[in-house]
Amino acid sequence: MNQPAAAQEELVGLEAGSSTAEKPAPVATPARPRVKPVDRSQLTWQMLDVERLIEPDHPARAIWALVGRVKLEGFYAPIEAVEGTAGRTPWDPRLLVSLWVYAYSRGISSAREIARRCTYEPAFQWLCGLGEINHHTLSDFRVDHDASLRELFVQVLGVLSSEGWVSLERVMHDGTKIKACAGSDSFRREERLKQHLAVARQQVEAMGDPRQEEAAGKRAARQRALRERQQRLEQALAELEKVRQAKPADKEQARASQSDPQARIMKQSDGGYAPSYNVQLSTEASHRILVGTEVSQCGSDYGQLIGAVAQVEENLGRKPAQVVVDGGFTSRENILAMAEQGVDFIGSLPAANPSSANQQRRRGVSEKFYLDKFSYDAQQDTYRCPAGESLRHNGREFCPGVTLHQYRAKPEVCAVCEFRSQCCPGNQHHGRSVIRAEYAPVVRQFAEKMETEPAKAIYRQRGAVAEFPNAWIKDKLGLRQFRLRGLVKVRLEVLWAALTYNIQQWIRLSWRPGLVEANN
Ligand code: SF4
Repeated sequence: MNQPAAAQEELVGLEAGSSTAEKPAPVATPARPRVKPVDRSQLTWQMLDVERLIEPDHPARAIWALVGRVKLEGFYAPIEAVEGTAGRTPWDPRLLVSLWVYAYSRGISSAREIARRCTYEPAFQWLCGLGEINHHTLSDFRVDHDASLRELFVQVLGVLSSEGWVSLERVMHDGTKIKACAGSDSFRREERLKQHLAVARQQVEAMGDPRQEEAAGKRAARQRALRERQQRLEQALAELEKVRQAKPADKEQARASQSDPQARIMKQSDGGYAPSYNVQLSTEASHRILVGTEVSQCGSDYGQLIGAVAQVEENLGRKPAQVVVDGGFTSRENILAMAEQGVDFIGSLPAANPSSANQQRRRGVSEKFYLDKFSYDAQQDTYRCPAGESLRHNGREFCPGVTLHQYRAKPEVCAVCEFRSQCCPGNQHHGRSVIRAEYAPVVRQFAEKMETEPAKAIYRQRGAVAEFPNAWIKDKLGLRQFRLRGLVKVRLEVLWAALTYNIQQWIRLSWRPGLVEANN
């Protein structure tokens, strides 16, 4: 300790008893702050109340309670272990369902991630009672129970319906593209697919017969991966044939993905293109509950509506009274089909007439020679062009909901007409033609209804309702890209997401902590 020299002299004198001078006050040494030490070398036991791991109103409790209310026989049926016998005891399907639903609700779709969280995250720990679940168990469970999962979806709909949250007065149907688990660069033409398949077959052959040689660890995994690659390439060649049949004009350019052969290149909402599936969602309008889901390989929505209405009926035992869709679903076929089924149909019908203004603009026809500038004589069944020439009936085409009548001017008349370049540019050999569309009464009534203000008002609600579950599934559940491959598994992924969405709506609308789980 350093002290001033004078003070030290005085202290020395005092110790020697040589002086009676006053004792100086001792200099105070500042005390060190006292804090709790951290001891990481200890081993300790802690009491843990599993029930208190999560708060009383935690959504994991709600999911557990609701899954406990429905019948899970389909999930239990394959379990061979029975009470009173030896052997490994499998995990309870009620727990596995609850884990997957809770995981999806948190935007988690990976079995490994769920298994990891079961070791430290309170809600997962509470659900599985501190047990540790292998990710293979979770992964297999997600895809092994197709029929039972559909039944569970319907049962949850039943619960929502019995509590008054499902009205089928108005159903909004829409489609959304979700990216497949495949890159755009995984698409190959036939020749390249065959090359890759030949290599894959050689590799599988070279590794020998897996039944004769028991492989383990990494080697077994490699064998499995090689066999799966061979299967995917074989499937890609089969899918290539389907793509060709769907687009015969594009036969030579047809390609299939070697990562997910059943994925198709589809246009996205941002205008780009990506390997995707077309996910169809039917939403009842009163409480925005999903009443049907489907997945299609076709990028167009036209053909999806009839199946969607049938599925709603299958799920809930009755048809929707009214279905609202956008222009992507509003075809004359769908107008006729909905009328036949007694479903009030609200949509946006694009013009059917090939002589419509848009079509003529695309062909370079001057506005002065659009169809509305030609006058129709119903008695003679002829048109008269702006130059005063007559166009006679030249044939008809019967399409669903509409008959298209064609009228044509004489080629020799148009050939010398001064307006030819404005009236029928590009038409070098035939006279100008126009089409008159004769709609079926049902289609006419639909078009008249869609001109009324009440129908327009209903149509305006479509976006907010139909796109709500789309946005929820993509943003909250994180399903912007599938984790699984192939149509069957992708359908299951959508079903898990839809089930989770509906259970979340039930929690929002119905669940009160303590009321339901008291019985579970
Ligand atoms: S091109 Fe033919 S149809 Fe067109 S204005 Fe001339 S005569 Fe009439």
